[in-house]
Amino acid sequence: MELTIYNTLDKKREIFVPINNVVRIYSCGPTVYKTAHIGNLRTYVFMDLLVRILRYDGFKVKNVMNVTDVGHLLSDADDGEDKMESSAKEQNRSPYEIADEITKQFFTDIDRLNITRPTICPKATDNIAEMIEVVKVLLEKGYAYEIDDGIYYDISKFAGYGKLSGMNIDDLESGARVEVNTQKRHPADFALWKKAQPNHIMQWDSPWGRGYPGWHIECTAMSIKYLGKLFDIHTGGVDHIPIHHENEIAQGEAYTGQKNTNYWMHSEFMLIDGGKMSKSLNNCYTVDDLISRGYSPLDFRYYCLNVQYRQKMNFTWEGLEANKVSRQRMIALVAQNKQSAEKTPADKFAEYTKEFEEAINDNLNVPMAMGVVWKLLKERKSADIYTLILKFDAVLGLSIEKEVNEYIENAEKAAQKDIPQEIVELAEQRVAAKKQKDYALADSLRKQIADKGYEVRDEAGGYRLVIVS
Ligand code: AMP
Ligand code: ZN
Repeated sequence: MELTIYNTLDKKREIFVPINNVVRIYSCGPTVYKTAHIGNLRTYVFMDLLVRILRYDGFKVKNVMNVTDVGHLLSDADDGEDKMESSAKEQNRSPYEIADEITKQFFTDIDRLNITRPTICPKATDNIAEMIEVVKVLLEKGYAYEIDDGIYYDISKFAGYGKLSGMNIDDLESGARVEVNTQKRHPADFALWKKAQPNHIMQWDSPWGRGYPGWHIECTAMSIKYLGKLFDIHTGGVDHIPIHHENEIAQGEAYTGQKNTNYWMHSEFMLIDGGKMSKSLNNCYTVDDLISRGYSPLDFRYYCLNVQYRQKMNFTWEGLEANKVSRQRMIALVAQNKQSAEKTPADKFAEYTKEFEEAINDNLNVPMAMGVVWKLLKERKSADIYTLILKFDAVLGLSIEKEVNEYIENAEKAAQKDIPQEIVELAEQRVAAKKQKDYALADSLRKQIADKGYEVRDEAGGYRLVIVS
């Protein structure tokens, strides 16, 4: 089945055609100056769904997600301090220590959300030499110039500037804020390399003195290093379209002399109660916040699955609660299928499988795929439905097998508590009879238990009582 995806670059849906037998994807990763909020994580759930769908479709995937541990300034458009440095000052700690801690936290969070770990997660600070190399070439080719505070990209030299966002250089000129850096040739020219003041903690040697890289150059250097000059898909949140990704295209194409990415995919933003997430509103919730309010990270993942990635997702606590209830219902229903002795002929499922696959291949329409799962669950119960849902879970990533097993175990434990003492005593007498090899008595006790509506099931290490009527 063909996979159709929306390509931001061409502003339309296109059939996905890979360059070769391994699909190569680059995803802009976290800036590790503070714990990722659930909005950031929605974007990584989207990245994960893309990778899972490609794998479900039979493609091999190599995906790279960088970790930005230097160079991302407080404004994406090169203003303000480096986020790592400013966080270090605020906390009176080393930026390296903060980066380490937040990176670990980030991977814990994505694991808890069942976001498949990318094949490679390079750190910006491990790739400074590669970034310097790209800047050198851009200078040599005349795409960059040096001023007092660093090396800047000259956007007027790149004819395709603005092609991703649909803006042109004149729009950028008139929309620009009052420029503080008067040496820049154009307000939208951006830093490739910043010269560091002596008190700047993160700095490296370069042909232009001590300094640190710009944020955009990191992704260009790392994507080319790990995925080559031309790779298949580049992902990120929609906020990256007008600046960060526009700048990546300008750098990469000027450096390599060719197109670098065939498909650009962007996920829409998450809103909280219909508005923006912000520090001042104290609503930049993290995975730990969800857990502390009694939710599983999988409730949040389930919530994300119900909103297509190109739709804005409006997070509310009521919405999370509704998704939690729905997920629990789903697990209970899947458990009934697992425990069913019924069989369903395989051809009956061809239709459902086709519907599921059509949905996921229709620009990642996972909400529609979830609808197919629910339709299946409304069918007559059968162990084959369980098997099919497990197959679909390779895309959904809801740990359905594990969750269902836990559900069944808990249900059985709860049922044990309801077994009357009289039955437990009969079962204990049966254990004693068996020990003494009095099998006639053991059988008669089993019958007495059965006559009272219970079944004793022998298991490794003991027995279990089950209500049968
Ligand atoms: P950052 O760590 O700030 O570089 O952001 C990491 C990722 O999260 C980027 O791909 C952003 O586009 C994305 N992002 C930031 N805020 C939101 C939001 N409210 N909703 C969805 N994605 C977001
Ligand atoms: Zn990036």
